[in-house]
Amino acid sequence: MKKVIALVDCNNFFVACERLYRPELVGKAVCVLSNNDGCVVSRSNEAKRLGVQMGAPYFMIKNQFKNVIFLSGNLPLYCEISLRVMQKLKDFTPDVEIYSIDEAFLDLTGLRKTFNCSYEEIVKKIVIEIKEETGIDVSVGLSYSKVLAKLASDKAKNIQKSQKRDDVESRVYKIGYRQIQKELKETLISDIWGVGKNTTALLKKHLIQTAHDFVSQDDIWLKKNLGKIGVDLKQELLGNSINPVNSKDVLPKSISRSESFKEFQTDKNYIQEELNSHVHKVCKKLRSLDLNTSCVEIFLRTKDFQVFSQKVNLVSPTNVEFELFDYCKKILDEMFQQGVVYRSVGFCAMKLTSSKTKQISLFEPKDKENKQNLSLSWDKLEEKFGKGIVKLGKL
Ligand SMILES: [Mg+2]
Repeated sequence: MKKVIALVDCNNFFVACERLYRPELVGKAVCVLSNNDGCVVSRSNEAKRLGVQMGAPYFMIKNQFKNVIFLSGNLPLYCEISLRVMQKLKDFTPDVEIYSIDEAFLDLTGLRKTFNCSYEEIVKKIVIEIKEETGIDVSVGLSYSKVLAKLASDKAKNIQKSQKRDDVESRVYKIGYRQIQKELKETLISDIWGVGKNTTALLKKHLIQTAHDFVSQDDIWLKKNLGKIGVDLKQELLGNSINPVNSKDVLPKSISRSESFKEFQTDKNYIQEELNSHVHKVCKKLRSLDLNTSCVEIFLRTKDFQVFSQKVNLVSPTNVEFELFDYCKKILDEMFQQGVVYRSVGFCAMKLTSSKTKQISLFEPKDKENKQNLSLSWDKLEEKFGKGIVKLGKL
């Protein structure tokens, strides 16, 4: 079945977030700056019209644009609002691929029946409901592949800009089958998503300027000059989806930490402390991804680069370091050899599973909850005061 894919893109996102909380900024020329007020990363339409360029260094333009309000960025706020937008998108379909903080691909294939209306009407609903529920304006490109959906959303933005329009109609752009060839003729290949400077230069040498010139090349030529990516891009431009909307978060198979000691070591207590610090970092990572481990491995590397390792399967999956310290101490006791000089220790968590689906184990230790709470408090303290704020005493 043909795919129907939409790209939803928030307009002037960081500025829009600021305006939600500071309505006095509406209608004014506003820019949001990157880290440490480095350069412009988001502009209101008013600032765009005055000629402020994306990426312009603040120190170079602040005197030139005295009427523009420059704001320091507030990433946590933008992340929170982004989450609200993405959550709302998931009300329409579970097939949402979050592409960046302000963009997501949606696979709408087959939803015409569910919503009992055309795909265009579905995306108009999306535009209206996102605005109503989050206060954020979005543009949507609608077509048959990610590459064409991205192109369509660029077109929507161009129309809003050139025609100074702001209505729902202007926020949605559809590239249907009959328009594909016309759009490709009007679009430079360098304006296509994923086509970089080097590729553009190479194509120019062969007199390929527009997206239409590109799809006119035969597959053998494309494969020879650009590899499989070239052939895939041609298909996507012709409206055949090769690169599907991927809503599954890719989870790691294992998480590990290791680091060389500042000086070679023969002291078991020192190595134990380093190991515990790695265990903590790995568990913190596991918690941030809502994962548990049910198999851990410890590595010891000697001065002469010999590696010793030992694995242990856990009785019940966990992401709580206080449940792992004992295991690790026992393993280290077995592995450590008096008189041997070591250069590093490492810790790896494997057999990862979701920590959200709670498994009740008969062997669950009684103080599990206490240990869990202790770990969470540790994360919070580090968030507030920085890494290394809590040091473990002797266990
Ligand atoms: Mg955007």
